[in-house]
Amino acid sequence: MFFINIRWQASSLALRHGCGWSCRGFRGFIQTMAAINPKLKIVPALLGWFAQNARDLPWRRTRDPYAIWVSEIMLQQTQVKTVIPYWKRWMRELPNIRAVAKARSEKIHKLWEGLGYYTRARNLQKAAKQIMEKHDGRFPDHFADVLALPGIGRYTAGAICSIAFNQPVPILDGNVIRVLTRVFGIAKNPKMKEANGRLWDLAELLVASAAKYRAPRSSRRKEAHSKITNSQSLLTSAATIAENCSSLNQSLMELGALVCTPRNPRCEICPVKNLCVAFREGRIGELPNLGKREAATARRFVGFVIERNGRFLVRQRPAGAVNAHLWEFPNVEIHPRPGSSPAKRDQSAHYSPRKSQSRLTSAATVREPDFEIIHAAKSLGIEPPAILPLCTVKHSITRYRITLEAFHVHLGGASSARPHNKMGRRGTPPSGKNNVWLPLAKLSPLAFTSAHRKILQTFNSKTT
Ligand code: SF4
Repeated sequence: MFFINIRWQASSLALRHGCGWSCRGFRGFIQTMAAINPKLKIVPALLGWFAQNARDLPWRRTRDPYAIWVSEIMLQQTQVKTVIPYWKRWMRELPNIRAVAKARSEKIHKLWEGLGYYTRARNLQKAAKQIMEKHDGRFPDHFADVLALPGIGRYTAGAICSIAFNQPVPILDGNVIRVLTRVFGIAKNPKMKEANGRLWDLAELLVASAAKYRAPRSSRRKEAHSKITNSQSLLTSAATIAENCSSLNQSLMELGALVCTPRNPRCEICPVKNLCVAFREGRIGELPNLGKREAATARRFVGFVIERNGRFLVRQRPAGAVNAHLWEFPNVEIHPRPGSSPAKRDQSAHYSPRKSQSRLTSAATVREPDFEIIHAAKSLGIEPPAILPLCTVKHSITRYRITLEAFHVHLGGASSARPHNKMGRRGTPPSGKNNVWLPLAKLSPLAFTSAHRKILQTFNSKTT
């Protein structure tokens, strides 16, 4: 019943607002809605909380849509603390849309190196070129135009339009879904079409009501004072209560990030505790209902730092592959034999979609090369005199738990090479258009995948 009301309210709201309600009439409508549905009370509670508690993040010190766009793309599947140095470096090196459009692909990949999901960076450049061509270099301020840019979906378009232009457009990401499902006690799986559509409607209603909300005069003074004097606040004096759409959307994300966390939410300090169904009914652990999680899959790779005459073999991943255009050392996947214990053990693990960013968890000493390792080396066309353990790198990408064991292979002089097979020669890995031999000093400037960057760092630390 609640959702029927919300749907009617949202469409009615949009229709009437679009048809030219006066401000006073619209405000009256919002107040009426809040009276009919006390659940809209979360709007002032969130706005007040955000004014006092928002983190001082660098992209919140500007209303430049380009800067906000870059931050939103980087923040997809990536934690704030990881993004901050990347964002600062990107903005320093590529301060505007024109600079992104003109940048070399190598520079784009190098600036993104380690953030993962490199398609995001390539789409940023495609979109920058499109903005130069179609919008004369100015970031568009119409939602439909923003949504039409490569790499921008409904969430990102909503985030940019609400944060940069204070437009009453909704956002719905993992944090917002968690807050809304808990506050309103929504038990259906938010990934399912119907529940997802209803959550979007709800987010739309909330931001629309924020657009016309006016805080009582006394709290307005308090907020303004807080914004100007609190050095920790990212809301500068330029950010005023006229930016309610921006603040409301960011408050939902911020509450999900800082207070209404997936595990152990801090309900005791939550500004909407008194309005929260999950808190009142003791259902926090059940919500959001994300269904059964997919089991994690273990994958194992072996990589080789192959050295010959002071040069090292590296290759660039081809277009269309995962981590396309990034550099790596030659490596091969080892498929576990059916029933082998490591794969069995990992079947019981589960992954969290919110933590799907590629990350390094360890770089420990690797075991001595065994039959499988030697076989892997041979599959790459190398049959070296010695394979020396270097390190093990563990990381996760989406549901994959990846272990990469790295070895150092010293081939000696070119004269040791002997004929091997069609792929290469004994002691000489196969050549290919993406394979190059480079001195060690030339490797660092390349954009490596995170795991292979770790291998390079380990190799450097052991040999210098
Ligand atoms: Fe989340 Fe607890 Fe706040 Fe409810 S009261 S929104 S569960 S932090």
